[in-house]
Amino acid sequence: MERKTALVTGGSRGIGRAICIRLAKEGFDIAFNYQSGKEAALETQRLCEEEGARCLMVQADITNSKECDELISSTVEWSQGKLDVLVNNAGITKDNLLMKISDEDLDAVLNVNLKGSFYMMRGVSRIMLRNRTGRIINMSSVVGLLGNAGQVNYSASKAAVIGMTKSLARELASRKITVNAVAPGMIETDMTNKISESAKAKILESIPFSAMGSADDVAGVVAFLAGDDAKYITGQVICVDGGMAI
Ligand code: NAP
Repeated sequence: MERKTALVTGGSRGIGRAICIRLAKEGFDIAFNYQSGKEAALETQRLCEEEGARCLMVQADITNSKECDELISSTVEWSQGKLDVLVNNAGITKDNLLMKISDEDLDAVLNVNLKGSFYMMRGVSRIMLRNRTGRIINMSSVVGLLGNAGQVNYSASKAAVIGMTKSLARELASRKITVNAVAPGMIETDMTNKISESAKAKILESIPFSAMGSADDVAGVVAFLAGDDAKYITGQVICVDGGMAI
């Protein structure tokens, strides 16, 4: 069977790496970007190739629209025109109470999580419309649905991702291109390793499962949305959160 092509942002570590490996296992060739972690990105590439995938690794800062366009064009050149799945995974936090969030920390979070996802969706939509096929999967967060003290900037960006997902789903539905969001809860990665043990213990109390999730838990849902069984699902937000958002 001919392999499809998936482009994953922020594939060098954490949830992004787990998505790259899972999609490679499911028969996709993988293009992904990293921003600064070249060593980690090389490891993702090795792990994808171990699964039998062709793999393209690109350094790109998704806050720069020109770099997003170049990431997309180098992927399409490498895949000979194919681009079946985009996973907008790259994201950052700059947590603080509202009154202590600087202009720079507001901009940094919106630039990666909101604008970066926007630039990637805009560039990829053109290709998917031309190819008359495609799946776009955006990484939101339960915090985009529930809010969270200390994360006004981050929750705004992740709520925006949900708004963009639903709007673009409506724009592309007539062409059978789906656009969905995944909203993880507390997942064990570098992002959550920054949280203090006492804060983590408090968060665990708010999770019905009383446990954090793994990057593989999120990757499995992304693989479902990228696969044939999800071809009639669009504009949805799927929480992977051990019940946090019930
Ligand atoms: P992570 O371990 O901190 O990894 C972040 C990834 O994003 C890295 O690959 C990083 O690349 C890349 N990245 C950051 N800024 C970038 C930029 N300007 N341009 C390109 N790539 C950039 O994060 P994670 O925990 O796996 O989170 C992945 C996604 O899930 C994020 O959107 C996050 O908001 C969301 N999420 C996570 C959790 C959680 O509990 N972990 C919960 C809800 C939602 P480099 O390493 O090369 O810099």
